[in-house]
Amino acid sequence: MTTRTRIEVHGTVQGVGFRPFVYRLATRLGIEGDVRNAGGHVVVRAAGAADPLAQFLASLRDSAPRHARVERLEVAPLPEDVTLGPGFAVAESVPALPLAAQPPPDLATCRDCLRELFDPGDRRYRYPFLNCTACGPRATIVADLPYDRASTAMRGFPLCPACAAEYRDPADRRFHAEPIACPDCGPRLAWWGETPAHGEDALREACAAIADGGIVAVKGVGGYQLVCDAGAADTVSRLRVAKNRPAKPLAVMVPDVDAAARVSLVDSAARELLTSAAAPIVLVPRRPGAPVAEEVTPGLREIGVFLPYTPLHHLLLAELARPLVVTSGNRGGEPIIVDDAGAREALAPVCDGILGHDRPIWARYDDSVVRVVRDRPLVVRRARGYAPAPLPLPVAAPEPVLALGAELKHTTALAVGAAAVVGPHTGDLEDAATFAAFEDAAHKLCEVPRVQPRVCACDLHPGYLSTQYARRWPAAKRIAVQHHHAHVAATAAEHGVREPFVGVALDGLGLGDDGTFWGGEVLLATFRGYRRFARFATAPLPGGAAAIRRPARMALGYLFGAEDFGERVPPELAEPLLSRLDPREVEVVRTMVDRGLNCPLSSSAGRLFDAVAALLGVCDDAGYEGEAAVRLEAAADGGAGAPLAWRLHRRDGLWVYDPVPTLRDLLSAGGPAARLAARFHHTLVEVVTALATEAAAELGTRTVCLGGGVFQNALLTTGVLGSLTAAGLEVFTGQRIPVNDGGISYGQAAVAAARLAGR
Ligand SMILES: [Zn+2]
Ligand SMILES: [Zn+2]
Repeated sequence: MTTRTRIEVHGTVQGVGFRPFVYRLATRLGIEGDVRNAGGHVVVRAAGAADPLAQFLASLRDSAPRHARVERLEVAPLPEDVTLGPGFAVAESVPALPLAAQPPPDLATCRDCLRELFDPGDRRYRYPFLNCTACGPRATIVADLPYDRASTAMRGFPLCPACAAEYRDPADRRFHAEPIACPDCGPRLAWWGETPAHGEDALREACAAIADGGIVAVKGVGGYQLVCDAGAADTVSRLRVAKNRPAKPLAVMVPDVDAAARVSLVDSAARELLTSAAAPIVLVPRRPGAPVAEEVTPGLREIGVFLPYTPLHHLLLAELARPLVVTSGNRGGEPIIVDDAGAREALAPVCDGILGHDRPIWARYDDSVVRVVRDRPLVVRRARGYAPAPLPLPVAAPEPVLALGAELKHTTALAVGAAAVVGPHTGDLEDAATFAAFEDAAHKLCEVPRVQPRVCACDLHPGYLSTQYARRWPAAKRIAVQHHHAHVAATAAEHGVREPFVGVALDGLGLGDDGTFWGGEVLLATFRGYRRFARFATAPLPGGAAAIRRPARMALGYLFGAEDFGERVPPELAEPLLSRLDPREVEVVRTMVDRGLNCPLSSSAGRLFDAVAALLGVCDDAGYEGEAAVRLEAAADGGAGAPLAWRLHRRDGLWVYDPVPTLRDLLSAGGPAARLAARFHHTLVEVVTALATEAAAELGTRTVCLGGGVFQNALLTTGVLGSLTAAGLEVFTGQRIPVNDGGISYGQAAVAAARLAGR
């Protein structure tokens, strides 16, 4: 007897070779019917005997292709009047779109394609754009769903007969590989330099320029990149000037895992990440004596390493056989450049040639960055390879919400029903160029699934460009979410924790609901709201935002104006700092603090790290937000040491951590800066543990969610996770969602959805 059924497969099932997989499975089991993409999911209509059909259903879920993720199957009987067969067919796509459908993330070159790339007998030998159903560009070339060639940037490349045959052959691994291409019909390399060239010649020119100590702009998959020899100190310094990026570490691409192990200490977790389909930049300890210039990671013990993830990168690395700096093609915090004209205008003057091609980039994707803490991968920047895969929301949004994020490391999120899609990181939202990239990303996020978000979520800070953008919605349709509530809600939402929960946000700066800047907060939270339970003591930010760039100023702020609990840090203890600084600057800051001139108060943990870094002589000026904390962690080098003194007070119904005893102890304890840096980290572990334990008891919960950029610090996070776990609490930190401001939009979406749902 024949059973007839209709199956909807939901999850990441488009652009991952799912339809060919269904075809092969059905053919093998003798099932008749068809399979098609429908919006964001796949619909299978199947008829067969009960046993094979049951096996078919089980295999759909259990044996799906490597990069597919089947979230659920919806099975229903097929109406009588539908006729199927004979045989099994891959049908045309149905363009009707469910909400929140998004293109799949890009996938690194697979092993089969890699073999062809270096096989002289293969017709795609050394072809820089080969791909298949298991690998290749996806989100970066898609303008619409369903994911078909006609809606990708490949539509300008008609298939040659050989590619067309592969595309149509269900037994071929390129069956319905939408970006399929070959040297006869696909995109071509071009070299814009002294002597323009194409194809293999273009590659040769680019390699020669890099080998010669040059900087080459390479058109990658989600944007242009600047590439140079990582061992050439002078070139790396020149690259830093070109990018206007004096200090921030640069990522290094190496040919393979063995090469990664020569540059860095790669454990099994890092190895798994490096070789994953997302192929992110992985932050790992730098190996002493690594064949990489010190200028790549100045003063740091960590290095960002990644493997080639497109055929073009594989060819470059195979040719040059050395670590290469591969960094986004942009200046400062500006968005990565995606168009050829922009590259020629902005990058040509600062590089020695451009290696481009004629496949357009339709969506801007930076490389993702991940670090491993206690064997868990923690995403630091979620972009290529991860975004825009949807993430679950704990409370479904009753209507679509566009969450506009904050300012630094900006992202936007779209919440539809019980899912949120976080767009790729578009840089620091501080100028017109980044704002344009943000508008473009927000537009794409809504356009592909054809969603009109009637509600927006934004930060409390009225000065952020993202908050100003929110004014496009009527006041009644704007949901303002406190920055640190968004941080801890992001972590809670990602892990689907039960409410209420304790939120610990250690962060740079975010506007609090009392008009001061927050950043060292313990919140008793639900998704809808929170009560502030504890905070770090305040200190003035002398000169406001200027203090962020100058940790030495922050140190003066703590010396002259730390919140008063009856004790001061005797300035003579800070003699090394004070004698290092221009006495006029010290006097100016002292006057500003005494008179409260342009000295907003903040309870930020990040700023306390700044002050400590300056007091220890580790960092007086920060080339980027958070540099002082990064250098302080590097100085501590994972070291041990007893915690310094610390004290809690009660003030206005809150617990307050008073860092004055800590700073006094820091300056009078003596010993090498490295040891003091480590002891400071261990102090904060104790403080956080004490406050979180107290908050958990008050709330009657065991759940603690960590958030905020300070938790990018592995030494601190490892300590806090260990200590709170030992105290019997269940601790969560952002894993798929960054703890830094890149995760704010997702947290805003979770909060807004819960408020709209009235829960
Ligand atoms: Zn492949
Ligand atoms: Zn072809």
